[in-house]
Formats: sequence, C-alpha cells, structure tokens
Amino acid sequence: MERSTRGRSIGGPFSGGSVLVKVTFYGVRGSTPCPCEPNRRYGGNTACVVVDAPGSEPLVFDLGTGLRFWGESLPANQPFHGTALVTHLHWDHVQGLPFFPPILRPGSHLDVYAPPQEGGTVAEAFSGFMRPPYFPVRIVDLLGDVTFRETGAAPFRVGRAEVRAALVPHVGDTNGYRVEIDGRVIVYISDHQEPADGSRTVAPEVIELCRDADLLIHDAQYTPEEFALKATWGHCTVDFAVQVAAEAGVRRLALFHHDPSHDDATIDALAAHARSLAVGTPVEEVLIATEGLTVVLGAEPRTNGRVPAEALRPTPVAH
Ligand SMILES: [Zn+2]
Ligand SMILES: [Zn+2]
Repeated sequence: MERSTRGRSIGGPFSGGSVLVKVTFYGVRGSTPCPCEPNRRYGGNTACVVVDAPGSEPLVFDLGTGLRFWGESLPANQPFHGTALVTHLHWDHVQGLPFFPPILRPGSHLDVYAPPQEGGTVAEAFSGFMRPPYFPVRIVDLLGDVTFRETGAAPFRVGRAEVRAALVPHVGDTNGYRVEIDGRVIVYISDHQEPADGSRTVAPEVIELCRDADLLIHDAQYTPEEFALKATWGHCTVDFAVQVAAEAGVRRLALFHHDPSHDDATIDALAAHARSLAVGTPVEEVLIATEGLTVVLGAEPRTNGRVPAEALRPTPVAH
C-alpha cells in the first residue's frame, strides 16, 4: 500500500505485480473552488487527476485549480513534458493552467487534448479566456510550449497509454476519457448529465467507454433531492454514478466532482449511500475522490482478468 499527499509518496515500496499505474487526485470539486474548514478532509480544489506509469510521461485529466498543487510537487530544475486530457472548457476544468509552475519554464511542453469547439479551434477557445482583461498573461507569453489538439472518435496513443474519447451528455460538448496502460483501464467522466426526464437511461457510448474499467472516476454531484431542483444543470446523482458503474461492469468507482456546498460530513453520507447501492453489483468498491489520494492499479497479480488495486486515504492536508 502507499500513501501520498499531493505528489509526495509516503510508505514503503510496493511488492508484487509488474507495472504500477498511479492515479492521484489533486482537485476533486466541481463548479468552483471551495476551500474551507468543513471541506478540509476531501478538499476544495477543482478537477485535476494525474495518471503516472513507469517509463511514461504523465497524463492529467483536466486543468482545474488542483493543477497548481501537482505542479508544485514536480521537480523544479528540469523541463516538464506531459499530456492533458481536458473534458470541456468550463472554468472548473481549465482555470489552473496559468498557475501550473512547470509551464512557466523554458523547455517544458504540455499537449492539451479537448473536444472540438463550436465556432473555432480548441487553441482559439483557450486563447479567448487566457488574455487581458480576464488574465494578464496570454498562452503565447508562457515560457513553456502548449499544443492544443481536437479529439475525435479514433483512439490515440500517448506514450504507452491508449486513449479513447467519447462525448458525454453535459452542457456543451464534453468528453469522457478511457485510458488503458499495460492492461489497466481508467475511465474519467467528470461531468455527466443524468436524464432530466427521470428515465435513468445511460447513453450506450458512455457504457462502452466505461466497460470493465478497473477504476471509474465519475460525477457524483447531487443527492436525488438536489437533482430534482437542478435537473438540467449538467450533472447527476450519486445513485446514477453507481448505476453507470454497475451497468458497465466497473470494479472500482471513485465519486468525484463533489458539489461545493457538500461538506465532509455530507460526502461521507453520500458515500455510505453509494456503497449500499453497490452491494450485489459488479462494483466491488466505492471510493471518495480526495485531494492527495493515490490509487495504485496493478499492485497485485491479476485475477480473472481483473486488476486488483490498492487505495489508502491520505493524511488530510490543510490549505
Ligand atoms: Zn465541472
Ligand atoms: Zn461543466
């Protein structure tokens, strides 16, 4: 087992298994940053999750405010090379980019993938919000390079990872991502509109994206009561997150994109509810995405084609 706080690993070396794929949460909130004492255990930064595998450059899901903390954990004396898989361009998924220290250094390079945008390229969309008067620094002014690419339906490779994007119902074009590295499958669906008509039908392409994943990181923003009031805001209930995972045969579900109004006690209660719903389904474990939490895939020999994983809650970090 391994414990990590914002990129710093604590604990002894892993034994067993060949390749370890590490998934670390640096930002777990949806909508807006919300650091405050009642949210201290799970954290208040917006979406940012990093995938590390030996011999590969890192992949990061989304560029929310958690990105800054990841950047601060990386070596300061060498150029950074990595790839961002951005789900969509809402603030909570892109706002961390100008505060990512490695991209302020010459020789660094960040490849950014995002869904095609209406009315212009992804590069134009990013340049549209990262410029005066919204922000003093333009993307072209960064000392490191940022390259923008539109995703399509075809899988693409990033180092040893095979990546596939699919559009997920939300507000505006939004991707979910499936990343497979040495047989370990991580799926990231940060924002997912549950059908507002109450049908609870999951889009077939979403099920296909999630199929048999070892870890699904999924929107878990609302209680059913909250969803009834915000049924068209682009998100879903915890119940729907469990349903998606169960229908797709996912082994481990991480509740993610916590509502900014949900304090630690509320999230504890939602997780207990989700765990009760998962009983008797293929979902063996329901985790709560937590800043500083690292989930390690591939730490034990595989069984029945599935990949066991280890996860340990980190020491809470104040910020
Ligand atoms: Zn969001
Ligand atoms: Zn959104």
